[in-house]
Amino acid sequence: MQTRMATPSDALDQLKQLLGDKGFIADAAAMEPYLREERGSYHGAAKAVLRPASTEEVTAIVKLCAEAKLPIFPQGGNTGLAGGAVPWEDGSGVVLSLSRMNRVREIDPIDFSITVEAGCILADIQKTAAAADRLFPLSLGAEGTCQIGGNISTNAGGIAVLRYGNTRSLVLGLEVVLPDGRIWHALRALRKDNTGYDLKQLFIGGEGTLGIITAATLRLFPLPKAVETAFLGLTKVEDAMALFSRARKASGDQLTAF
Ligand SMILES: Cc1cc2nc3c(=O)[nH]c(=O)nc-3n(C[C@H](O)[C@H](O)[C@H](O)COP(=O)(O)OP(=O)(O)OC[C@H]3O[C@@H](n4cnc5c(N)ncnc54)[C@H](O)[C@@H]3O)c2cc1C
Repeated sequence: MQTRMATPSDALDQLKQLLGDKGFIADAAAMEPYLREERGSYHGAAKAVLRPASTEEVTAIVKLCAEAKLPIFPQGGNTGLAGGAVPWEDGSGVVLSLSRMNRVREIDPIDFSITVEAGCILADIQKTAAAADRLFPLSLGAEGTCQIGGNISTNAGGIAVLRYGNTRSLVLGLEVVLPDGRIWHALRALRKDNTGYDLKQLFIGGEGTLGIITAATLRLFPLPKAVETAFLGLTKVEDAMALFSRARKASGDQLTAF
């Protein structure tokens, strides 16, 4: 006997049941903030906005959408400036917002690591680390709204990139839901990890094209004992690089921003 493939409307009915009122939005006004980019440069449409609360719910969403051929647009804080989190204008897909997956799973100050869900707001991770006398150095103008899953998916840079690198340098491990709904468990905190291919790198900067990041283990640092800021004037722009080089050398490479 041949089984019928699930249609988009079957999948949406099942997703509504599975996710409940908090996790399934189809009302036009309630969906609106998820469908546009803040500057108005991108505007899309969607059949629904899905807000899972767990990795298992993300798995179920991906399996149902894959079967019904419903395109998924993962969305973090929707602060990206390239329109990647905004769905297509034809309204054929669904937005998958990670905003309810915002738990800190574990912080280990001795190991200088923290494991968080993808929907954690960047500023909240910074605060959690600081409360444990540690620094999570990723910092950018959107930090009160952007989420770590979005930061990882865009390999965000921010203002401390000179000292600590892009987000890529801050990720130790990932948990990802793959396009067939399987969970890739790679939440490891090991620094000296030389076991073959470093597959997590494919998802970092991948903008959600290869999977949905549901959690990450991140690198923490000692909190700086003191921070100094200097405002300098130069007579010609060419001197900026010489000054930068001198400041790096004089500070023992402790310069965080320039
Ligand atoms: C005021 C301001 C300042 C900024 N400063 C900087 C800066 O200094 N450096 C910088 O690099 N960027 C900067 N940005 C851009 C933006 O904030 C970053 O790109 C940020 O990392 C996006 O995070 P987000 O959670 O808002 O992601 P979103 O905009 O929601 O999504 C970005 C992309 O990632 C995908 N995605 C989101 N979450 C997931 C997930 N869990 N799994 C898989 N894919 C996912 C989306 O589909 C989309 O393609 C700035 C933006 C603003 C508004």
